[in-house]
Formats: sequence, C-alpha cells, structure tokens
Amino acid sequence: MNRVYNYSPGPSMLPLSVLERAQKELVGFGDTGMSVMEMSHRSKMYLSIYEKTEKSLRDLMQIPDTYAVLFLQGGATEQFSAVPLNLGVTGKADYIDSGNFAHVAAAEAARYLAVNTVASSREDNYTYIPDWKGKANPDADYLHITTNNTIYGTRFTELPEGGAPLVADMSSNILSEVYDVTKFGVIYAGAQKNIGPAGLAVVIVRKDLFGRAAKICPKLMNWEKQAENQSMINTPNTYGIYMAGLCFEWIQGLGGVSAMEKINIEKARLLYDFLDESELFKAPAQKAYRSRMNVTFVTGSDELDDAFVKEAAKAGLVNLKGHRSVGGMRASIYNAMPTEGVKALVTFMKDFEAKH
Ligand SMILES: *Cc1c(COP(=O)(O)O)cnc(C)c1O
Repeated sequence: MNRVYNYSPGPSMLPLSVLERAQKELVGFGDTGMSVMEMSHRSKMYLSIYEKTEKSLRDLMQIPDTYAVLFLQGGATEQFSAVPLNLGVTGKADYIDSGNFAHVAAAEAARYLAVNTVASSREDNYTYIPDWKGKANPDADYLHITTNNTIYGTRFTELPEGGAPLVADMSSNILSEVYDVTKFGVIYAGAQKNIGPAGLAVVIVRKDLFGRAAKICPKLMNWEKQAENQSMINTPNTYGIYMAGLCFEWIQGLGGVSAMEKINIEKARLLYDFLDESELFKAPAQKAYRSRMNVTFVTGSDELDDAFVKEAAKAGLVNLKGHRSVGGMRASIYNAMPTEGVKALVTFMKDFEAKH
C-alpha cells in the first residue's frame, strides 16, 4: 500500500514505525499471549505499560514529581469543563481569546464561573495573538491560554508569567517544542495531534492545585481523584495509552523534544519561506505569531483553492482544505509529518503556481 502525506489537523499522521510496531504487537503483546486491547487495565502487564508511558512523558517534558500526569477520556473538550470545575474556587477566571478553541473553552467555563476575556483577536479573524500584557487579573482562579491555534495557524511566542496559575490547552503543539512545565499550573491536550490516536487526553496538573474542585465536579473529571486512582476510576482508554507510549518512545529515539523542535522549526521554515516568495499564495497569519504546526494559506480565489486541494489529493497530498471558518488551505505538519512530506508539498505548490 502507498501511504499518502496526510496534512489533516487531527486525527492526523502517526509515525510509520509506531504503526508498524503496533501491527507487530497487535495480536500478541510480548509473551502474554494476548493483545493489549484484551488486557485487564488492572493487570500487572497492563500497569507496566501504563507506568512506562507515564514515565516516558515525564522524561520527555521533564515533569517534576510535584505534578500529576493523567490519561483521561473526553478529549480536550471535556477539559474545557474540567478546568473551571477543578479550579474555580472564587468563581473568576481569565481567558485569552486567541482562536476558535480558546473561544469555545471560555464559553464552556462561563457555565460555571465569571469569565473575563483579557484580550481577543476575534474581530481580526484571529490572525495574531492579542496583546495580553499587563491585562490579566493576578487574583483570578487561573489564566487560560491556547498555546497553538490549530484553525488559524498562530502560536504564543511568549508566556504570561507571575500571575494566576497558567492553564494551557496544548492540544496542537504539545511535545513539538520545549516548554518549561513549571511555568504552568495545568497543561492539557487531546491526543490526536501530537500524542497518539483519538480518544485520550493528557492532563498535567500541579498538585498544589488539588483541593479546589467544585462540589458538583463529576468524579471522572476530578483531577485529584483521578490522580489518586492512576487515571483508572473507571476503565481508561487502554489501547490509546499504549499507542501514546509508542509515540513517546519514538520521540525519545529521535533525541527528545528539543531534537523534535529543531526538526519542526525547519519544516515550518521550508513552507513559510516559499509562501513569502510566492506570488500566488498568501499566509494570513501575522508573521510574528506563525504556528509551526498548522500553516494556513490562501490563493485569494475560492476556485483556485478548490482546484489546489483537489489536485494535491490526486498527487497523494491529502486533507489540505482549510477549516470551514477560514477557508483556503491548511497544512498541519505535526511531529509525525516527515520533512519529506513538507518538501513534497512545497514542490507541489511551486508546480501549481507555475501552472496557474
Ligand atoms: C483539536 C483541538 C481541540 C479539541 O480536541 P478534542 O480532543 O476533539 O476535544 C481543542 N483545543 C485545541 C487547541 C485543538 O487543537
């Protein structure tokens, strides 16, 4: 079978070596005589997979013991509710409105507490990260940001510091660049972009933030209770966690997150360099805030955009259509997208430009 280059925003590409290893281990894991999918989550063999997965993530992100690491279900979206339910102790929270997911997260939080929008770039179609400096309330229960805006293709290049606990939705750029975990109160991410298959969310919580959960916080969303139970109050996504572990090992094999970051910077540079010199394609996101994970671009003509997406798919470059709220094209080039995939896209774009 010929694998395509898949620029899907999520679920997205997984490293081929990870898929091949999963394939090899699918029917029988080690000498257990059973698939990981068939193991009890309470069994010794499964717990060893779970613990290895957690340890790999701790190593990759240098997560100190003062933080809990959880593997939960419900994706990032469930955390939009879990965040206010776990942290909303005084009932006031700050949100930076830098993209659609940030907006949805704030709207969900507003069901439980008073949301203060510190800064927003919504009026300008989220083409930049709004200026938040000096505007956040240090006494808020927390300050929520989205480190990478998946739909619009922008990223925070600087982090708010020294105020309320920083809560970050890192769904679309976790493990793609080095972050100092100690700058955050909470980091969460849906798995299907940079961690593994869909159906899993990783939550990293500073333990001193435990004890603030609202009474109505459902048990399954309660981070402290989940931490006490190794994320196994009920049956976790056992196979998703195993797959995440394989992806973590793959990053470790490449040299860790800093090595991954170098590769990602180069991949993004290849695309943006071409976009900057192109006469046909334009990149709507402001230069200073360009995402390294989601590169958005347009031709200015809906017909040409359509033709581009269709012709690219025929050439084995699939899922390049932009989000319906932005139009145009978007190339999601997460960790698992090889540099060759980006080069193939640039070559295709050059040919397309020459033809049109
Ligand atoms: C994809 C994405 C989400 C939604 O994730 P689900 O796992 O589908 O809930 C939330 N935030 C960001 C930044 C995303 O990229």
